[in-house]
Amino acid sequence: MARNPGPRPAHTDGPQQAAGPEARVVVVGAGHGGAALVALLRQGGHRGEIVLIGDEPEHPYQRPPLSKKFTSGELEQVIRPREFYAEQQVVLQLGERVTGLDAAAQKLTTTSGGTFGYDFLVLATGARPRPLPAPGANLDGVAALRTLADARVLRDWLAERRRLVIVGAGYIGLEVAAVATAAGVPVTVLEREERVLNRVASSELSAILTAAHGARGVDIRVDAQVCALAGNGAVREVVLGSGGTLPADGVLVGIGAIPNTELAEAAGLACAGGIVVDETARTSDPAVLAIGDATVRPVAGVGRMRLESIPSATEQAKQAAATILGTPPPAPELPWFWSDQLDLKLKIAGVVLPGREVVLRGDPGIGRFALFHLERGQVRAVETANSPAEFMAGKKLIASGVLVDPVRLADPAVPLRDVSTGAC
Ligand code: NAP
Repeated sequence: MARNPGPRPAHTDGPQQAAGPEARVVVVGAGHGGAALVALLRQGGHRGEIVLIGDEPEHPYQRPPLSKKFTSGELEQVIRPREFYAEQQVVLQLGERVTGLDAAAQKLTTTSGGTFGYDFLVLATGARPRPLPAPGANLDGVAALRTLADARVLRDWLAERRRLVIVGAGYIGLEVAAVATAAGVPVTVLEREERVLNRVASSELSAILTAAHGARGVDIRVDAQVCALAGNGAVREVVLGSGGTLPADGVLVGIGAIPNTELAEAAGLACAGGIVVDETARTSDPAVLAIGDATVRPVAGVGRMRLESIPSATEQAKQAAATILGTPPPAPELPWFWSDQLDLKLKIAGVVLPGREVVLRGDPGIGRFALFHLERGQVRAVETANSPAEFMAGKKLIASGVLVDPVRLADPAVPLRDVSTGAC
């Protein structure tokens, strides 16, 4: 066991001392970030004890199928084979919730009364669905989607329910709308913003997706206010701010996620809409790291933000592994996201921000296109549908920072390697 590094000042300048490959590591949260980290530590030669604590009873599982494949036999996919954890000597504590964190003593306690000391604690506590702030939100037939258990409920609903109303047109709302519609379930989506995917996509992509969903029969209503859900025990209708009502046999609430920061806050770690971390995954306590949806993290060219995605959690797992092992930090990665909706395979690289020039290449009418986001002649982000080559080329253009000619970029006859006008 390594020497306990002891209390250190928060965010001191200069290099932090890592506890090294013998350190006792406790990871709280067995989602994508936590599961990636324990594997990276062993791959990196970590010899010390590793404990992975998850509050769900399931072995760490893939989250994308929950909203994309919940009606198929592909819903339940583990991230690693179940034997992996024992083989790698990772102590897996499933169905355990951490109830107390004593950062000064470097110790935490769980619901079953377990106590775990650590040299490094990694908070990979994720986020939880934002509850609908409306009367009737607790009626039977009203649900959210975050866990495998939630997805099983949704799958069973779709087999028997007739009309589904989805509140929120984010990734959850639109992905579920696409699957439910394909299964023959009538779907209405209610979004309070003026467009779908308002938080993460450009208005151009929002318009294309709204049209694509509409053409498949999804009834999307924007600027919609949900005042209440009504029914006698089970939900039967949605009461709208406009005064009207919508019949519903089931209501899925997908109105965003709240980061699980309670442990961090109780331990006095800096939090600001998420656990504040740097590019080494350190929090304001150098013995405590944090990764994934629970964090606000630095993003090159943007600043600190919450980046809710699996690629971001995986990148932060690499940062945390390097910090724990005392190896050089990994190079920063470009944020990226993906989504499957209808027959559109969406891939987005970079952070989409308003106010940039947007150049369309391809044809939304046939479902193959790319939207390049330019700032002072440089590509900053790209949103693509069924266009893997444009996605790859877009990532390279973003990374290189070359100046591009928007007219040539828009012309599919011009190869993407020929759109540059030179270095900036
Ligand atoms: P989201 O992406 O934040 O979208 C939620 C949408 O619902 C926002 O447009 C939000 O508007 C709107 N909304 C909020 N309150 C509302 C209300 N009372 N009535 C109607 N609309 C309302 O969140 P999400 O779709 O629930 O997803 C949850 C998390 O899962 C996110 O972290 C998401 O990134 C992740 N996820 C990702 C993927 C993927 O990457 N493909 C797939 C599934 C889930 P405001 O902005 O005004 O609040």
